[in-house]
Amino acid sequence: MIKEMMLAVLSGGTGTPKLLQGLARLAGQEKISVIVNTAEDVEISGLYVSPDIDTVMYTLAGIVNEGTWYGIREDTFFGHEMLGRIGGRELLRLGDRDRAVSLRRTQLLREGKTLSKVTLELCERLNVRARVMPMSDDRVRTVVHTEAGALSFHEFWVARRARDRVTAVTFQGIEKAKPAPGVIEALEESEAIIIGPSNPVTSTGPILRVREIGAALSKHKEKVIAVSPIVGNAPVSGPAGVLMGGLGYEVSPVGVAKIYRDFVSVLLVDEGDRERVEEIAKLGIRAVPASLLMPDLSSRMKLARMVLETVI
Ligand code: GDP
Repeated sequence: MIKEMMLAVLSGGTGTPKLLQGLARLAGQEKISVIVNTAEDVEISGLYVSPDIDTVMYTLAGIVNEGTWYGIREDTFFGHEMLGRIGGRELLRLGDRDRAVSLRRTQLLREGKTLSKVTLELCERLNVRARVMPMSDDRVRTVVHTEAGALSFHEFWVARRARDRVTAVTFQGIEKAKPAPGVIEALEESEAIIIGPSNPVTSTGPILRVREIGAALSKHKEKVIAVSPIVGNAPVSGPAGVLMGGLGYEVSPVGVAKIYRDFVSVLLVDEGDRERVEEIAKLGIRAVPASLLMPDLSSRMKLARMVLETVI
């Protein structure tokens, strides 16, 4: 049964890739379309870096660095170090192999190809069999508004370690952004749409704000399931907590449910959050307790199975 299903997964760059490993083992990569956040895309040393696409692509290619969920396993950093010696500063530390991927992406973009075509080509080269798509070929940029001023996502998170109080988050270019080719078809054709356990403000948030994508999920709400990235009162990793708090959401699966209420019919919450199930039901969402932490492959497969069994 599971083997026959077509799945669409909305992804950022840390939590959802873990789940994707499990889903790929259970359903097979060929059955999976991944729609990836591009609002954190950034120019580094003249290269177009797409951190979430890269993490998804490297995960499915079996080469991701699982220590950081960023970059390629056992990569070296000679280029980054040499750049530092000659005065080149980089906001993100790019490994040598990782840099080669961004270099190739930049070359292909300069030849006039779209980000979705370039992503397809890179995936083919890396033997990724799932369909990995940017949410849009149009440029969207996350702006985190804080008491210290307006910051890009990486300035806020990497350079300033999320120390500034957040007052708002906006996505430059989102109003005009069209879904990348194939995205809406993948959502329509899939038996289940999974919003992975990613940051609901800056990872899945921008994907859902691409108007036609949000509309497609609302329309097919009955087959949309989300996995909470918040366990208890904190994210498993990353700045989701400070971002949700800054926007006035409770940092809990209930806060996640409020963000997703127009788009999902089911939310997996951690077993420890069982007592919040009824509150979430009042928002029109069926909350299902599950073991949400995914430290290893067996827990990733177990959660993936739970997701699929709950949504079908
Ligand atoms: P980013 O682009 O690196 O911020 O990537 P994501 O948004 O995809 O990933 C960050 C989110 O993943 C955080 O909100 C984490 O709480 C969540 N996350 C990381 N590991 C796990 C896990 O094992 N289980 C769950 N449920 N969430 C996780």
